[in-house]
Amino acid sequence: MTRRKLIAGNWKMNGDLAALAEIDAIAAAAVAYPGVDVAIGVPATLIAPAAARAPGLAIGAEDVHSADSGAFTGCISAGMVREVGASFAIVGHSERRGGYDETDAEVKGKAEALLRHGLNGILCIGETAEQRDAGNAVAVVTGQLRGSMPWGARSGWLSIAYEPIWAIGTGRTPTVADAAAIHGAIRATLVELLGDDAQAMRILYGGSVTGDNAAALLSAGDVDGALVGGASLTAAKFVPIIAAA
Ligand code: PGA
Repeated sequence: MTRRKLIAGNWKMNGDLAALAEIDAIAAAAVAYPGVDVAIGVPATLIAPAAARAPGLAIGAEDVHSADSGAFTGCISAGMVREVGASFAIVGHSERRGGYDETDAEVKGKAEALLRHGLNGILCIGETAEQRDAGNAVAVVTGQLRGSMPWGARSGWLSIAYEPIWAIGTGRTPTVADAAAIHGAIRATLVELLGDDAQAMRILYGGSVTGDNAAALLSAGDVDGALVGGASLTAAKFVPIIAAA
């Protein structure tokens, strides 16, 4: 089955109004690659202005709360980001799971909030270096996938992002063979969970993707796109990754 590639950026806690010039440049360049889906997750403060400036680009949030409203000081709901122009959100990023003790059950709740509000989702999973060294990468990653898979998941609205924690922001990446092996294990688990629709669900790779390594990583079996952190902050670094897809 051929799956359209998705190249998604994750700005994390970076970017101000001046940085929206990069969104303009990315949107302008992305037009040249109509066969690739391009999306960018930005800080909540930039969702509305980015979506207004780049209607052709999918602009998203980097996290949402699982509840629709209530006494959750400092949090933002799926409905809120949707109202100001987000078309998707990232959930379960390792910086949320690790830094804020988010459990699989909480990530599942967040993904289900996206579905309630008509937002697409990118659900992140990934193992630590210690877990990989102990030979537990596949068990950890497929366990996270089972635990955080939302009710009603289907390929049209949800993508999975495999992001080994040891590769995020480190310049290290798995070999093409390692990436293919773990993406294959994720696909097999998706088949168990979702049946036939699993073949259409995109599995992105994330962690130190650059213009230099993107073509090789994207050539691995079952790698259907990339979730890009640092290299998504400027058009100069992000557009070559779109081109490689
Ligand atoms: P990186 O981050 O590309 O800077 O390694 C990826 C991510 O955390 O999504």
